[in-house]
Amino acid sequence: MPEGLIVKALSGYYYVKPKDLAADLVQCRGRGIFKKKGVTPLVGDRVMYSPTENGEGTVDEILPRETELIRPPIANAKLAVLLFSLKEPDLNLQLLDKFLVHIEHAGLQALICLTKEDLLEEEMDERSSDITIETGKLYQAIGYDVIITSSVTGLGVEDVKSRLAGEISVFSGQSGVGKSSLLNAMLPGLTLETSEISMKLGRGRHTTRHVELIELENGGYVADTPGFSQLDFLELGVDELSSCFREFRELADMCKFRGCSHLHEPGCKVREALENGDIAASRYEHYVQFHEEMKEKKRRY
Ligand code: GDP
Ligand code: ZN
Repeated sequence: MPEGLIVKALSGYYYVKPKDLAADLVQCRGRGIFKKKGVTPLVGDRVMYSPTENGEGTVDEILPRETELIRPPIANAKLAVLLFSLKEPDLNLQLLDKFLVHIEHAGLQALICLTKEDLLEEEMDERSSDITIETGKLYQAIGYDVIITSSVTGLGVEDVKSRLAGEISVFSGQSGVGKSSLLNAMLPGLTLETSEISMKLGRGRHTTRHVELIELENGGYVADTPGFSQLDFLELGVDELSSCFREFRELADMCKFRGCSHLHEPGCKVREALENGDIAASRYEHYVQFHEEMKEKKRRY
């Protein structure tokens, strides 16, 4: 039985890319057993399939998933590319930290792209340039890759592309930060609608779209629909929050009290690190804000 990758799901069909690179996509139905068991094959699933006589096929088995996202529904994504524009809209570090919490919780790696660098150059905006450098340093220091990009000048585009090699990735970020533009810049020939165009046409984007993986020539695949659009903390327990701040993790094990919330307990190593300047004030501040937000949500639901 051959192995393949589901790159598209549409109207009950799964489009399977055979592992043998040269072959065309095979249009497959799922086996009835999936429905009975309540399992749905997802885009990104590695599957075993059997070709049928009419040139189509049947998905017989879903290989174990490494990760699973709900929005967009996609399996085995390894990397979330987080796009934040330096201008238009301005950099929002609270939102960036919120995205990172979700990515850590989903078990994906993160790549941070600070986009639209050309807008800073244009204005010779020194304050923003300093913020850019500081932000880059902050996140690199806690182990995230940061790439500064511009879809206009091409800055960083090849770097991003090479980070996507051989993996399934999702692009995430607020609307208007430049996700479609960056994908278009990476993939000559691809023309994803940018928000500018969809505004001209007078319609919102991604309303009824299905998920599809776009194949790069370096063996990478990128979902054409942005991920992590709903950031509401509902799936996350308050006690899981601190482990989603990666620089807190090791410290948290050394706090005096087990289950320390790092808010007010004595002997808290996280707060000690904050006072020593080993944890960035903005990161801790966002931790406290998210903690509040989560408790507030739990009260309401
Ligand atoms: P998306 O909503 O995240 O997919 O963002 P788009 O790719 O649609 O971009 C939103 C707007 O920002 C469009 O008007 C783009 O032309 C513009 N834009 C995107 N990337 C850049 C960039 O690198 N530099 C500049 N100056 N504008 C950009
Ligand atoms: Zn603590």
